[in-house]
Amino acid sequence: MDSLPSESEVAAALLTLLKDSTPPRITPRQAYQRLAEQFELSEIALGLEMASEESAWENRVRYARWDLIKAGQLDGSQRGIWKLVTDEPDDEADDELDINEEATGDDEELQQRSNNLLRRGKVNRPVGYLKARTTTSEGTTYLRDPRVRAWVLQTARGRCELCEKPGPFVLGTGESYLEVHHVVFLSLGGSDTVENAVGVCPNCHRHLHLGTDADDQREALYKKVERLARS
Ligand SMILES: [Zn+2]
Ligand SMILES: [Zn+2]
Repeated sequence: MDSLPSESEVAAALLTLLKDSTPPRITPRQAYQRLAEQFELSEIALGLEMASEESAWENRVRYARWDLIKAGQLDGSQRGIWKLVTDEPDDEADDELDINEEATGDDEELQQRSNNLLRRGKVNRPVGYLKARTTTSEGTTYLRDPRVRAWVLQTARGRCELCEKPGPFVLGTGESYLEVHHVVFLSLGGSDTVENAVGVCPNCHRHLHLGTDADDQREALYKKVERLARS
């Protein structure tokens, strides 16, 4: 009944395919297609007429890849890139596993990481975390994405996004000091994304947290800052 080649046959073919590729890496999509061609599988055998994301063929290839990872022949450290284990330094992989992009619950660590990102130059608009993750080692701490903080500060460029004045003093980076505030607090289920974060001066920040008219200030932010989305 099973018209597909066995997992070990697929694994052997995948290994050969990678060894023959320069550089020795492919995307999952390329692997599904090129191995299917190699085994001369018809579309019907592949189940491509059905929802292709869960096709039996793709599953078989993915399992074959896992076998190779477990055998130490493939590198499983990166999503979306299938490659041989090599000793060569891989800049892309280093970027992928950059500690500075890891979420942290430690405020100083967060500042350090996002400052490192800023020092490197342009920060691409990050996805962030729609549901902020927490760690409960000492009470509940919200893990925050340094990329979100860095992008917001870079975009605000030292000018408070609420009162529109420059921050109160100049930092070593040459930028005026701002703080990053989550419009819907993380503790109330707000997301750690640039659509829910603003760069504000310390006065406005306290105002947003403690003011009797904090709700009005929050509404003012939604009007002023176009990227914000109510979450
Ligand atoms: Zn302000
Ligand atoms: Zn805040």
